[in-house]
Amino acid sequence: MKHAAERFGALARGRLMYGDAMKELMLRFRLTPIYDETIREALMEHSDFDGVKGIFKEISEGKIDLRFFRSKDKPTPLAYHILYRHVDIPELIAPENVATDNMTRLRISIEGRSIDMLCFDCGKLTRDASIASLPDHPFCQDCSSKLLAPLFWSSAYATNILHKKQDKQSLDENEQKALTRARRSADLVIAYGRRAIIAQSVYGIGPQTAARVLSKMHESDDEFYRDLLEAKLQFIATRPFWNN
Ligand SMILES: [Zn+2]
Repeated sequence: MKHAAERFGALARGRLMYGDAMKELMLRFRLTPIYDETIREALMEHSDFDGVKGIFKEISEGKIDLRFFRSKDKPTPLAYHILYRHVDIPELIAPENVATDNMTRLRISIEGRSIDMLCFDCGKLTRDASIASLPDHPFCQDCSSKLLAPLFWSSAYATNILHKKQDKQSLDENEQKALTRARRSADLVIAYGRRAIIAQSVYGIGPQTAARVLSKMHESDDEFYRDLLEAKLQFIATRPFWNN
């Protein structure tokens, strides 16, 4: 479908596309000639009906032996693409190759993001730092401190609280909570550097889960991202409904 859409000029050529985006194409282009052309090509050029007939014939004649395989934990890669529409969190049943795809997607989406970082030493807020270009151990551009809290929303709010605290003003309960949470985030960044920022930018991963994942000190980025994806899915699968 992607290639047909590219040839029709409906999609820019060579754009990277993963799992769900590819599956959406079918919906986006249904009832268009792009859809018809895709089906035509699949049937005319990519299907080998004579070959299939031959295989069926040999099976019925007993020349090809049939073995049944039942996958207990996860659907096979072939079955997954049929079943995924009917489950709430398809990632949980994804076979290995699809899981790798999800991991790559998570990685690309995180590295493409930018965040605000608040220095707990001097109170300087750095805005819109791109995660992909952060050094392994990010530091404050004003005072070189590595005690940086990554902030993903309302960074002005957190900055304000920190300044109040530094001015020895009293904080209310919510402000104290927000500050404690940001401080715990910063503690992880000073200990684990850029990976602590990456971990905490994943949906559903707060300082506590991030600390658990980071303490494994993964040798490779792949293992690190695999654990992040698992933690994210765990969160989605177990979150209470009212927490949506
Ligand atoms: Zn600073």
